[in-house]
Amino acid sequence: MMETKVITCMETDDMDCLAEAGEILKKGGLVAFPTETVYGLGGDAMNPSSSRKIYAAKGRPADNPLIVHICRWEDIYQVVSGNISCRQALVNAKKLADAFWPGPLTMILPKSPTIPYETTGGLDTVAVRFPSHKTALALIDRAGGFVAAPSANTSGKPSPTLAKHVLEDMNGRIDMVIDGGAVGIGLESTIVDLTVEPPEILRPGFVTCKMLEEVLGSVETDAAILEDAKGLAPKAPGMKYRHYAPKGELTIVSGNRDKVISYINSKIKEEKLQGRKTGVIGTVESVGKYCADVIKSAGSREDELSAAKRLYGILREFDEENVEVMYSEAFAESGIGQAVMNRLLKAAGHHVVKL
Ligand code: AMP
Ligand code: MG
Repeated sequence: MMETKVITCMETDDMDCLAEAGEILKKGGLVAFPTETVYGLGGDAMNPSSSRKIYAAKGRPADNPLIVHICRWEDIYQVVSGNISCRQALVNAKKLADAFWPGPLTMILPKSPTIPYETTGGLDTVAVRFPSHKTALALIDRAGGFVAAPSANTSGKPSPTLAKHVLEDMNGRIDMVIDGGAVGIGLESTIVDLTVEPPEILRPGFVTCKMLEEVLGSVETDAAILEDAKGLAPKAPGMKYRHYAPKGELTIVSGNRDKVISYINSKIKEEKLQGRKTGVIGTVESVGKYCADVIKSAGSREDELSAAKRLYGILREFDEENVEVMYSEAFAESGIGQAVMNRLLKAAGHHVVKL
């Protein structure tokens, strides 16, 4: 165990507070930091030993690659292969960067030889992102420009949306946590694979398929990540693991609103008779109608972003309160709602009741 130092740095603060954090990364240490999506667990992407430490701290399987974070477009040329056969992928990358970077979009491209295999989980492709969070950008710059960072949770747990969540999982395992308050989006970045034609979405996020298609023309979505995909192997190595999972049993119930509420309440009554502690994820419009022990609101139905922002925190709260059986309403599959449903389906092990 090491001592984990916690500092506070909000986006509006003077970024000089990051001097020590930058030094830690340059020397091969690990620093967790806020981004606009979730908290990341950063190490120097060019240092194989830093990447190995990230896997160890998270208990992450070694074949699950890390995302390389940059803070300037030009730096992509040091991350991505300059090979002539990669030119089309880079043309598409530039178009997407002009539209969505800095921001919550990760692109898969052929890797340059300078990126260690420890960072890419042994793959010849690399995931790159240019985030928009000011603290993240200043930290990447101070670290030398290339920070490998997966989400700062223990492998299998929900991604952290608060510094408190990072400490729950990483205290004593990493050198520093930068507390920048609550993150903006609350779900991980969209991942798009540009090494295939047409480009393919490997993980849905804030940047939707429709937004990508407006820039690139046709874009596909990995069939394994959609609803009803039980059994298919996802193409992003990290998407195949049981992830975002609460300790209890979660079921998603979809269909007519009133029927969903009465179905969930009837199940809750049965579970309570068995002596089990119950939980529900509803919305501000419905939470007053449930009879569970622990009832959480994912925000308003009208506002899909609020569910994105609340979901992981709610799953952690259920664990803290030792909830054994949980039911969640389904969310709209449009816009970021698709990303919310993707994470919820994984948390529920694809257990869905359709009324
Ligand atoms: P995290 O940063 O924890 O959200 O995890 C990174 C995600 O990116 C995981 O799901 C990885 O499998 C995925 N990823 C990273 N690099 C690649 C790559 N080269 N090809 C496909 N997926 C990748
Ligand atoms: Mg993760």
